Amino acid sequence: MAAIHPTARIAASRAGTAISRLLCGVPIALLAGCALDSEPATSQVASNSTVADYTSSGCSTSVVIGLSRQISDEIACEHPGGLTSFTPSGNLTVTNNSVLPYLAAGAKTDLIAEAASHSVQVNSAFRTIAQQYLLYRWYVNGRCGISAAATVGNSNHESGRAVDLANWSSVVTSMSAHGWKHDVPGDSVHFDHTSSPDIRGQDVMAFQKLWNRNHPADRIAEDGSYGPQTESRLKQSPATGFAIGASCTTQHAEVADVVSIDGPDSAPPATRTHFTLTIQNNGTTDWPGTAVLVAPANTQLHDDSWIDATQIATLGSDIVAGSMGEIAFDVMTPTTSDEMAVFEPLTLTDGTTTLGQVNLAVTVVPAAQGGGASDGSGTTGAPQSGDGGDTHDEYNQDITAGCNAGGTSGAGALVLALGLVLRRRRR
Ligand SMILES: [Zn+2]
Repeated sequence: MAAIHPTARIAASRAGTAISRLLCGVPIALLAGCALDSEPATSQVASNSTVADYTSSGCSTSVVIGLSRQISDEIACEHPGGLTSFTPSGNLTVTNNSVLPYLAAGAKTDLIAEAASHSVQVNSAFRTIAQQYLLYRWYVNGRCGISAAATVGNSNHESGRAVDLANWSSVVTSMSAHGWKHDVPGDSVHFDHTSSPDIRGQDVMAFQKLWNRNHPADRIAEDGSYGPQTESRLKQSPATGFAIGASCTTQHAEVADVVSIDGPDSAPPATRTHFTLTIQNNGTTDWPGTAVLVAPANTQLHDDSWIDATQIATLGSDIVAGSMGEIAFDVMTPTTSDEMAVFEPLTLTDGTTTLGQVNLAVTVVPAAQGGGASDGSGTTGAPQSGDGGDTHDEYNQDITAGCNAGGTSGAGALVLALGLVLRRRRR
């Protein structure tokens, strides 16, 4: 059962502090031996957190990325055309930790076609029941600057055919030429690929199937309907995903699978910002504690806590094959007078073999830009969910005001993204 252990109760907004305490000041550490079914140790923090643990802490749905990937993969198993994963690269980038890189097959094809000739900066794509649950709870609790959110199961972004783009204003015409309609009045960042199927509700069904697969003695109805039974199980579910994942194995065979990113989606410029990644070693070989996370030579995120100019940190201890571990590190957000997006590939390597790649995306919004966020992504300075940028998020409902796009606080904001691209390792 998904028992909630005291050590698992981490407030995402204070995760850095908590983890530092747990690690006794070690700036970076990897916690080995975290097999999903093992008895939890003190260090197994993120891997034991439930979805409900994050309802009153943090503002990034990236903490449930592992569970969300399983839900997405389960949908893709049943409906290959309805949902498929994409990999941010080149002109196609993501702007925050929470972006789940899945879309309907047709929508994906047309988004990639758009990116062949234009920059496409994705604030949000597909969203699962787990992400929408957190967004809705944060909205209800008056948290994260979210002044409207769709009820669970009803977000446009659970359709598999919606994206929010940070740079929407420069691509309205070209997106339209690729089948993406700029069709929600008042929600400027939002586009729908209306020729693709609307798979809303399939995320609820997929979750119900995953729950039953992992809890045969506590089965719930697999009806795609979100009610009290489903909600109570969702709250108990591990944020990093179930022990048994999707029913087909073709979607995710990566050796390095990122299952949680704990840290803020936004922070002021020139500020040290802490992140904890939880990664799963899906390979057959143990990862040594000496494996290191490396930034590109031209990195704009260097922090003095790094090993050197580009080596961010080592794992610290082994992650044995089949287990989960954590890697925590700081970046220094750059200073800039103009809004700028940074998208850097980080590499996890054992010195000879690449174990995985992490795409680190950073959008810096300087404080001086008092005109407000034209992209509607919210720049109040307080940590916000990069995934809560819709102003008319609920399907067929006229909800106004999304993620506080007024930008009236004048505080600078930085949207930090760790879009984790999972690479197949040579075997
Ligand atoms: Zn949207």
